[in-house]
Amino acid sequence: MESTWIDLSSIITMVVASTGTEFVVHKHVACAKSPFVAACLKEHTSEAREQKIEVQEWDDDDSMRTLIVWMYQGKSVLRIPASLLKDRSNMEARVRVGTLQVRLTKLYLLADRFLIPELKNNIVDCIDATEDFGYTTSTMATHMLFENGPPECKLKSYLTWSIGVEMEQACKHPDNVLGKHKQVHRRTIDVPSVAHAILRLLVEGIPNWKGICDYHEHDADNSARRCGNSSDFVVLEDDVAMDDETGNAKD
Ligand SMILES: [Zn+2]
Repeated sequence: MESTWIDLSSIITMVVASTGTEFVVHKHVACAKSPFVAACLKEHTSEAREQKIEVQEWDDDDSMRTLIVWMYQGKSVLRIPASLLKDRSNMEARVRVGTLQVRLTKLYLLADRFLIPELKNNIVDCIDATEDFGYTTSTMATHMLFENGPPECKLKSYLTWSIGVEMEQACKHPDNVLGKHKQVHRRTIDVPSVAHAILRLLVEGIPNWKGICDYHEHDADNSARRCGNSSDFVVLEDDVAMDDETGNAKD
């Protein structure tokens, strides 16, 4: 009789420490995408013996799941239909974009832990894509990044730049739609590290937009090899079927 073998040495378990949720992943996939995983599984480590990696001080299963989907597919399921994005007057669209920015920011923090610049670049592209549609930067996402993120990172620079531009515009045009951003950013600057970063930018002068690559991590020779493609993340042209339960694209 034919039997199907699963080679157990080819799979590892990744555990979200704070929730205890376990994810089973092919070792070669995780090692190829994440130098952090590869380092954990070097010979003679306890992780290599147990084929298990605990993600310490992490409590978000959603971002872990999305990270693994990205490892296999090279793209994310965090997507919003273009038709919804285009309608900024729609409350649902604004809520969805805010939620998306928060989820992407969490994913950025996880990608930082897993040492995956390619994914981090993808995420910056995606947040930039939502802002191209005129959505303002999520206060919750900004606070989360500045309170939990690494001291310096490209997403912080991007959000600081974006909020700085919005605030400058809001001061110049207080009565139109840009002026409304000012109300939002009154809350954004409640966190001292955010206020400090924005104030420093305004004092030093907001740099001109030279392209999204200023907010990417490139290779040491500054080649663009790690640049992502935002269309991997956000569907800008076509509608996609949405899963009502998770809010993700179904495909
Ligand atoms: Zn780039």
